[in-house]
Amino acid sequence: MSAGSLFASNAYLPHGWESNVRLHWDADGAMTEVERAAQPQQHEPQAVFVLPGMTNLHSHAFQRAMAGMTEMAGVSKDSFWTWRDVMYRYALHITPEQLQAIASQLYMECLRQGYTSVCEFHYLHRNSDGHWYARPEEMAQRLIAAAQHTGMGMTMLPVLYSYADFNDQPLRQDQRRFHTGVDDILRLVDHLAPQRSAQVEIGVAPHSLRAASIDQIRAVHAALPADRPLHIHIAEQTKEVDACLAATGRRPVELLLETGLVDERWCLVHATHLTKEEVRHIAKSGAVAGICTTTEGNLGDGFFDLPAYIEAGGRFGIGSDSHVSQSPVEELRWLEYGQRLRLQGRNIASTEQQRNVGDFLWQQALSGGAQASGRQVGQLTKGYRADFLVLDEHHPNLAGLPSKAVLNTWMFAGNDNLIKDVYVAGKRVVHNGQHSAQSEIQQAYVECMRSLRAL
Ligand code: ZN
Repeated sequence: MSAGSLFASNAYLPHGWESNVRLHWDADGAMTEVERAAQPQQHEPQAVFVLPGMTNLHSHAFQRAMAGMTEMAGVSKDSFWTWRDVMYRYALHITPEQLQAIASQLYMECLRQGYTSVCEFHYLHRNSDGHWYARPEEMAQRLIAAAQHTGMGMTMLPVLYSYADFNDQPLRQDQRRFHTGVDDILRLVDHLAPQRSAQVEIGVAPHSLRAASIDQIRAVHAALPADRPLHIHIAEQTKEVDACLAATGRRPVELLLETGLVDERWCLVHATHLTKEEVRHIAKSGAVAGICTTTEGNLGDGFFDLPAYIEAGGRFGIGSDSHVSQSPVEELRWLEYGQRLRLQGRNIASTEQQRNVGDFLWQQALSGGAQASGRQVGQLTKGYRADFLVLDEHHPNLAGLPSKAVLNTWMFAGNDNLIKDVYVAGKRVVHNGQHSAQSEIQQAYVECMRSLRAL
């Protein structure tokens, strides 16, 4: 990689759009200077609209392979739980090579749509028979390799997955690839440590309170270095909340918060079914709520209480989770539309300080996603990664548009992808809408899907 610079007639800085900005970065991909009131020079790289790339704070990459495969009504009532059975069938067959092919395709798609980093909630640890690979970190390494090949920044989160349900129920046969105890997870964190860099962070994710006990979560928390992120699925389904109440006398969020462990390092993924009190407590903890709107919609999870959470000052980011969408714009649009439909009102995601819904959503998701990733991303500021998007100023939606209307227009006026170029760590990985390794990645994915679909 080499150092570089770009002149932007409009750049989205932490306080909002600013005109005439020059970004500088070093050979390692970190921004060294954000020059304001700059003058464009002849022959230098230039762009009209530049904004920070988004963090995708929740991904199970292998599920990209089954997106669209579960939309046919079954004989019994379909639910999250019947969907999960289909997902497990796929999960049992995927080889390391296939995982890398699927993840490469997914990350490339995400980059083209504006995500420049991903938090990979990785639980496909063992081989199809339920044994460890010769290198226990084999599958995690495949995901890291896919991120490095496509240029995506990554937070790898090996998942602690010990039980099938509350009260330490043993895992089912079809969950054998996920099986890990505390020692396994700490070994994975250890083996993956040499992969850490400015582009790759390693954290941990207890799968959920169904799959990991509070004692295990305490043990992992105590052993993990203090700067690493922790993610957990929580309160996604009412059935899960009821089961937690029955087993422990507490709701899941209550139970987790009672440990006193939850702080800014944590990302509570979904957090869909909350009492008003839980909303306030999560907001106060400084943790990030990981909202995955399109997946939550696809699975029929329910609505996140966004207005109460914003009112309480809660932090949030977005994730594509099961990958029924790879677009941050669609994720954020449906976050707002879900609330409009639920509340029969408009312009819900806004505050007195930020009345532009598109800006509010993009800014919140940038900072929440960055926090959840544990990496220096999400803003055009000295010291942060040079991860940014260049929009196509010639698109009819943007032609002659004042910068303050750009995010609202992008988010709420159609489905064209307005991104022209994408830079990660100062390297242009998408140019004129095309990824630099697009055809090769796509070909490997097509071959992989031919064999998976023949199962
Ligand atoms: Zn998930």
